Amino acid sequence: MALLATSTIAFKTINTQIRSRSFLPAQRHLPLSSSPPSSSFFRTVSVKAMELEQKNPMVIDENGVLKKGIAEFYDESSAIWEDIWGDHMHHGFYPPDSTVSLSDHRAAQIRMIEQALRFASIPLAGDERKWPKKIVDVGCGIGGSSRYLSEKFGATAIGITLSPVQAQRANALAAAQDLANKVSFQVADALDQPFPDGQFDLVWSMESGEHMPDKAKFVSELARVAAPGATIIIVTWCHRDLGPDEESLKPWEEKHLKKICDAFYLPAWCSTADYVRLLESLSLQDIKSEDWSPYVAPFWPAVIRSALSWKGLTSLLRSGLKTIKGALAMPLMIEGFKKDLIKFAIITCRKPE
Ligand code: SAH
Repeated sequence: MALLATSTIAFKTINTQIRSRSFLPAQRHLPLSSSPPSSSFFRTVSVKAMELEQKNPMVIDENGVLKKGIAEFYDESSAIWEDIWGDHMHHGFYPPDSTVSLSDHRAAQIRMIEQALRFASIPLAGDERKWPKKIVDVGCGIGGSSRYLSEKFGATAIGITLSPVQAQRANALAAAQDLANKVSFQVADALDQPFPDGQFDLVWSMESGEHMPDKAKFVSELARVAAPGATIIIVTWCHRDLGPDEESLKPWEEKHLKKICDAFYLPAWCSTADYVRLLESLSLQDIKSEDWSPYVAPFWPAVIRSALSWKGLTSLLRSGLKTIKGALAMPLMIEGFKKDLIKFAIITCRKPE
């Protein structure tokens, strides 16, 4: 992945309401697995990554540079992720105190989709007239959500991603599942979507918002392409909400997020409350949000375990330093969640009729 780069990330003010910083995730996804590699392995790759970074410092200060980095990152890492984790490049949903198996990650990822639909009050069964018929999947990865939603609802879906490799793979998987007449994927920017206004009755963004350097523009594009009455679902990484007397995150929190940004090539983060304010400013209705951090807690440890497996390690070694650097940053995600700095948020709303 491309992401090795960033030593200096210039955080942009997203809008006047969003003061805090963060970055997000792309990378969240690196394979690791069971027998831990030696610490010298990590030391060696770490040193190599640093050396490379010093030779090729890249500043993430312009959307163009960021976009290129994200595209390259996913071009390089998607096949490994798919090989180890399958076609959903997002967290699983693990209900606490339940009887479901916490080791079935594929099921947990599907549960995430189902729970998001339920939270947004989209009927999962029954009244088919209320099912979405035309879906846009903003930041589609290799199209796992689009294919799942299309099959579930008999809907058409269009996915957009910055990564040409992902778009191609997503179309190939759709064809292999006989869904090519219903589902398609293309390279396009979520901040400048190639669709006319009011097209889609479900606007779906599963773990892509964290990549968006301009959250206000991102949300306004989601609202623009939504048809009257459409549901918008955003599932994304946020930082904690600020307290009433706080102007910004604490210095250690900024520092922590900056390290993750450096590893994952991410722009500024915002809080869930920031998203809600942005949706309110667009007069969207039925705005709801919830912190799902407790439901995703088993995810990162599982990804780290898979990355430490033989298959994970060999894949990592083949993948390049950007992916490796991302893998080395994964414990920072766990720590960020544990310290209540990082939040896994769902935010949903409806466009007025
Ligand atoms: N939603 C997918 C993939 C999540 S990974 C899933 O759940 O499986 C994040 C995705 O966001 C990647 O496909 C990446 O290319 C996409 N992305 C990031 N920034 C984007 C942008 N500005 N425009 C379009 N896609 C973007």
